[in-house]
Amino acid sequence: MGLLEGKVALITGAASGIGKAQATLLAKEGAKVVLGDLNVEGINQLANELSPDGSSAIAVEVNVLNQDQINVMVEQAIEKFGQIDILCNTAGAFDSMAPILETSEELWDKIMDVNTKGLYFVTKSVIPHMIDQGSGCIVTIASDAGLTGGGGGIAYTSSKHAAIGFVRQIAADYKLKGIRSNAICPGLIETPMTTELVANPAFNESITRASGRIGRPEDIAKATVLLASDYADYINGVELPVDGGLINSL
Ligand code: NAD
Repeated sequence: MGLLEGKVALITGAASGIGKAQATLLAKEGAKVVLGDLNVEGINQLANELSPDGSSAIAVEVNVLNQDQINVMVEQAIEKFGQIDILCNTAGAFDSMAPILETSEELWDKIMDVNTKGLYFVTKSVIPHMIDQGSGCIVTIASDAGLTGGGGGIAYTSSKHAAIGFVRQIAADYKLKGIRSNAICPGLIETPMTTELVANPAFNESITRASGRIGRPEDIAKATVLLASDYADYINGVELPVDGGLINSL
């Protein structure tokens, strides 16, 4: 029996990297999964792998900046599976470590929008169902860059600090409604988002020296299962670094 048997999880950013690993492990632990992403091909393929007959995984094209599309995704989840127990806010965008003088207004807006307004839109659409159920768990992927300077460019670091504030405020506002809201702060994880960084020998070496190895998407998926399971039912409003100790050595 899996740790998440009987639960339904909605995962944004599920087509790639961390979101894909989360969807895969949550499904393995028994959750039914709703996969949301801009990348339709990616989520369709994953849904088909996880549940060829569509009985335990569905894919829904969504832009986390489009409230109407999000509402449709949430309605489809409820229609198909009857509830949403777990929300993984994972979709995100990176600024390639750009300092302020190399950050255009367009880049700033894009990063802040996807990494903060996206949380606002998706969470706002899901929370009423969690309130009705009297329970729910939200796992937001922030970053070590949300805890300190130097983990991203100016826009990314600012957006991930905001994401942590968002997670804390949701926990404060809804803890008495049975809703938990926690953040995971990954270190450097090898995904399509970080291909260039991981390929940079000096960067790669410094991360490996500080944390033993480069992180894998599965490392974040495992922490997500922990936070989403009933073993974490008294954990609320926290930021959990999952980085092999990287943040502790910066
Ligand atoms: P990734 O690029 O592999 O995946 C990101 C996914 O989000 C993609 O599938 C993309 O299509 C989707 N997405 C982007 N904008 C979207 C939008 N507007 N609407 C819907 N979907 C959208 O990257 P990843 O490394 O798996 O990143 C996942 C999360 O983890 C992000 O929030 C990222 O900031 C965070 N994170 C990653 C690392 C790392 O080292 N990879 C470290 C810390 C935090």
